[in-house]
Amino acid sequence: MCGIVGYIGKDNATRALISGLYRLEYRGYDSAGIALLTKDNIFLKKVAGRVSELDNAIRDRVPDASIGIAHTRWATHGVPNDINAHPHTDCEKRFAVVHNGIIENYRTLKKFLEKKGHRFETDTDTEVIPHLIEEFYDNDLMSAVKKACSYFKGTYGLAIISLANPDCLVVTRMGSPLVIGKGKDEYIVASDLAAIISYTDKVIYLNDGDVAEIHPDRLRIESREFGPVAPEIERVTLSLEQIERGGYKHFMLKEIYEQPVILRDTIRGRLNYEEGIARLHGIANYIEKLRDAERIIIIACGTSWHAGLIGEYMIESLAEIPVEVEYSSEFRYRRPVLKKGTICIVVSQSGETADTLAALREAKRHGATVLGICNVVGSSIARETDAGIYIHAGPEIGVASTKAFMAQIMTFALLSLLLGRLRRLPVDEGRDIINAIRRIPDQIQSLLEELPGQIKELARTFKDHRNFLYLGRGYNFPVALEGALKLKEISYIHAEGYPAAEMKHGPIALIDKNMPVVVIAIKDAIYDKVISNIEEIRTRQGIVIAVGSEGDSQLKKNVDHIIYVPKTLDHLYPLLTILPLQLLAYYIADFRGLDVDKPRNLAKSVTVE
Ligand code: GLU
Repeated sequence: MCGIVGYIGKDNATRALISGLYRLEYRGYDSAGIALLTKDNIFLKKVAGRVSELDNAIRDRVPDASIGIAHTRWATHGVPNDINAHPHTDCEKRFAVVHNGIIENYRTLKKFLEKKGHRFETDTDTEVIPHLIEEFYDNDLMSAVKKACSYFKGTYGLAIISLANPDCLVVTRMGSPLVIGKGKDEYIVASDLAAIISYTDKVIYLNDGDVAEIHPDRLRIESREFGPVAPEIERVTLSLEQIERGGYKHFMLKEIYEQPVILRDTIRGRLNYEEGIARLHGIANYIEKLRDAERIIIIACGTSWHAGLIGEYMIESLAEIPVEVEYSSEFRYRRPVLKKGTICIVVSQSGETADTLAALREAKRHGATVLGICNVVGSSIARETDAGIYIHAGPEIGVASTKAFMAQIMTFALLSLLLGRLRRLPVDEGRDIINAIRRIPDQIQSLLEELPGQIKELARTFKDHRNFLYLGRGYNFPVALEGALKLKEISYIHAEGYPAAEMKHGPIALIDKNMPVVVIAIKDAIYDKVISNIEEIRTRQGIVIAVGSEGDSQLKKNVDHIIYVPKTLDHLYPLLTILPLQLLAYYIADFRGLDVDKPRNLAKSVTVE
């Protein structure tokens, strides 16, 4: 969460910083600010609200500068107002800092600094950083930053400028992402590539504990623990088109429509029909360990956790390996028992999710093998896991995850096919699964052509309802959870997802003639049971919106509204049934006039615990 950008070079820093902030705004958007280094002071502007408000506030009113830092905030400590917005400064306004993360021991540090005479102006945790740097500064910014960092507990990605060392920009990180882009006689640093790629495709990923001193024409990196580090320059292939909205009204809609293409990318080169098996090169060295695993623990948060639940059902039924799914934040802070033979799989779209990163480190501390399923190449989780599988969903900008979820499910379909074949499935069954997997992108493509009209109508009808229930069973129970989450996230309508049969243990009390209930009732092994659950809702006058299998005309008679999806294998249905639920959430939010890509209180890539 939160976007950081810093620039040093020959260009106009403001232009680079503001355009960088626009590209990073999906990471946090409650306030924004900029600090520019001029000859005799640090120019500072901070506003509550969106980047466009900062842009308007400084337009034609900024000094010329070639060094600066900027920030778009997702507040953790201190309400989102002008004062609490970043950058933050020290007493004499000689140092300016932007920060992503949380300084957990900021109260202690603040007391210590106040005793030394430092005066604080904001309610943020971040403000201790410039004051501590001021306290330790002795003619060298990098040394002062290193010393200050040794006092911090928590997570941080930092960019710092100083009047005292006006020819450089210093950056460092611990648990929060930070990438350095190298241009010609210029550097642009940011919390992700989106702000960098219009400048350069050459990047350096900082490791936790690294501090970099950046001049327009040179760069020096030191690890706080191990001393000098030789910068490793990598080339990135991300294109601008991938991070722009194209002709779509929202990124979320663009990303929903990208799903057929994404899934083709996820499966490309990974299916071997002859042998009826999947190939996953990223984890090739761990396949035997996985095949013989006594237990797999999937660890994730939010939407990725839902994908993990689907993964659990797939791996258990196809490969018969016991699987558990854990919330990263829970796993991290209890005492997980990780015996030999347990393999952990962490799932994160951004690869920076703070809770998941912490869980991964905890699992490694216990000596477990940890594999990753990530989208962002080069992300912290991708780098710290023993091995992993990229889902190849391309950049996901919409805060509500859609295409990454699909690609995660598909990745679990590939993994469960691979493990299933290695353990028990005959080749013919593997081939049937491959055939079904290959059909999925086209099936989604046709749904994207057929469904929007019908779903817009439903959205119009139900946009003012205050509560929804989502029900599903088996593989589609996590889909119900995800459908409810999508609606909550972007439309602010209360929605609960439940296993359909659990309804009678509580939620059924909520059902009356005003309660829309979305039920996934496809023709799978437990279809008849779901039909009974639908009867139970109808008996209590609930409104049933069913997602059913193509050709199921009987179901149509028993429900108020029906959305059909094509047939597939039971375990692949989530790839089809989630689509109408994504569209329903999208159109309801859009009809309600809400900012779909920037839902309130949320932000992309949850980099704080
Ligand atoms: N903890 C800091 C704040 O609340 C930084 C939050 C962020 O990462 O945006 O200002």
